Amino acid sequence: MFIFNILFSICLASFGGVVALRVPQQESIIWGHSHCDYCQHQLAWYQMLPIISYLCLHGRCAYCKQPIKPVIFLIEITGLIAGIEASHQQLVNPYVLIIFIITLAVCAITDWYYLAIWPVILLPSFISILFVASFTARDGWEWLFFNLTLLILYFCQRQKLGWGDLEILALMSLFLKLKITLEVIIIATSLIVIKIIFSKKRLVSLKVAIPLVPYLLIALLVRLAFI
Ligand SMILES: [Zn+2]
Repeated sequence: MFIFNILFSICLASFGGVVALRVPQQESIIWGHSHCDYCQHQLAWYQMLPIISYLCLHGRCAYCKQPIKPVIFLIEITGLIAGIEASHQQLVNPYVLIIFIITLAVCAITDWYYLAIWPVILLPSFISILFVASFTARDGWEWLFFNLTLLILYFCQRQKLGWGDLEILALMSLFLKLKITLEVIIIATSLIVIKIIFSKKRLVSLKVAIPLVPYLLIALLVRLAFI
């Protein structure tokens, strides 16, 4: 099961990389062969093997030798970590956890590059979480209170929190419950504070928008490592 989980997670992550690059460009995620962004050369199957191909090609296109976007490799590595972590926990359904982490990784890429999250990307995660989420009345009230607080924060501080961040936190608190979600938020905000402290453009950093989802993703992976 362990090997299957890892293979499932890495392949899903590889597809997630395609989604992250194509959805913002309004390209089809089903049709169209994978190709190099520079020379447009169509890739052979052995040049699309997750993780392995990137390492064998030393991160460069086999034809024009231009660098392959490192986000593809990073999301595949995230898939590997997600597969390992999902197999070593009994908290939630491992497959839904993998789908959720990969969804978060896809949103982290779009948030990083475009400061935007496309709701359609969240849909597979939303549907699979609805299928497995078990809820007590207490969980329900906690979820409602937490998300209403976020909603108030969003309307009072519109520039500070994005609507996509809200959607992701609503999903996370539905799936992983409030305690883990709050721990993830604490780790993520601590990482952002550390980033600002060590940033050379410290004063500027406080004024520019910081994408939250990449930090939520790292924080979740860190938190799951301690389950
Ligand atoms: Zn090329």
